[in-house]
Amino acid sequence: MARRKMVAGNWKMNGARDANASLVHDVVFDSKRFPGIDIVVCPPAVYIESVGAALNGSSVQLGAQTLSEQEKPGAFTGEIHGGMLKDVGCSYVLVGHSERRSLYGESDALVAHKFKTAQACGLVPVLCLGETLAEREDGQTESVLARQLGAVVDLTGAAAFKSAVIAYEPVWAIGTGRTASPEQAQAAHAFIRGQLAKTNAKIANSTRILYGGSVKADNAATLFANADVDGGLIGGASLKAAEFLAICALAQSLCQ
Ligand code: PEP
Repeated sequence: MARRKMVAGNWKMNGARDANASLVHDVVFDSKRFPGIDIVVCPPAVYIESVGAALNGSSVQLGAQTLSEQEKPGAFTGEIHGGMLKDVGCSYVLVGHSERRSLYGESDALVAHKFKTAQACGLVPVLCLGETLAEREDGQTESVLARQLGAVVDLTGAAAFKSAVIAYEPVWAIGTGRTASPEQAQAAHAFIRGQLAKTNAKIANSTRILYGGSVKADNAATLFANADVDGGLIGGASLKAAEFLAICALAQSLCQ
């Protein structure tokens, strides 16, 4: 079964109303050229609603960068409930981005709860997994990926991935200008799919696994062409319309 390619932009803590309006205008305008792929943008939370309004009528979908693990809204100052993200138009939410794990201490268990809450709120979680450089050099890449994925599968079951996306993002490639080679990316993606297949082969085959880590227009084609790479999660390059759209065009060109 062919998996539909996806290109998702993670704006991180970047943006301002004027700049967002111009970026979204350009992305929406050109998105018509890419009917075969899913395009998602994940602005900072305060801009979700205005970006959503600008996306109205287009096929570009809206995502958030994180959510609270709390199942119910309430007295959790500063947190954002998944139902609120859904209410303002989000379809997707990133969970377990490496910046959340390393800078804000999000554990595998917390990430798993966020994943579960996202689904309970009707959002599609994009579960980010990835090893640090030290872990890779120490030969621990597979054990790290298995541990991070396993925490979610143990809590929700593999069937939950029917409505989820995975992003393999080696930490050493995020924002560094250094990408995994196509072979390294394919090996990690195949490993992740194989881990899911151990409990549910059908789900493993249909789950999209994006690659993230310094994807640009000049390296996206060789990464996306791999059998188990179903598109990209794009950080820095998603802030420049021309670059982001060029990556979308490459994903579209690989549609069967
Ligand atoms: C990311 O933040 O998910 C990411 C992949 O960033 P960059 O593309 O800038 O490496």
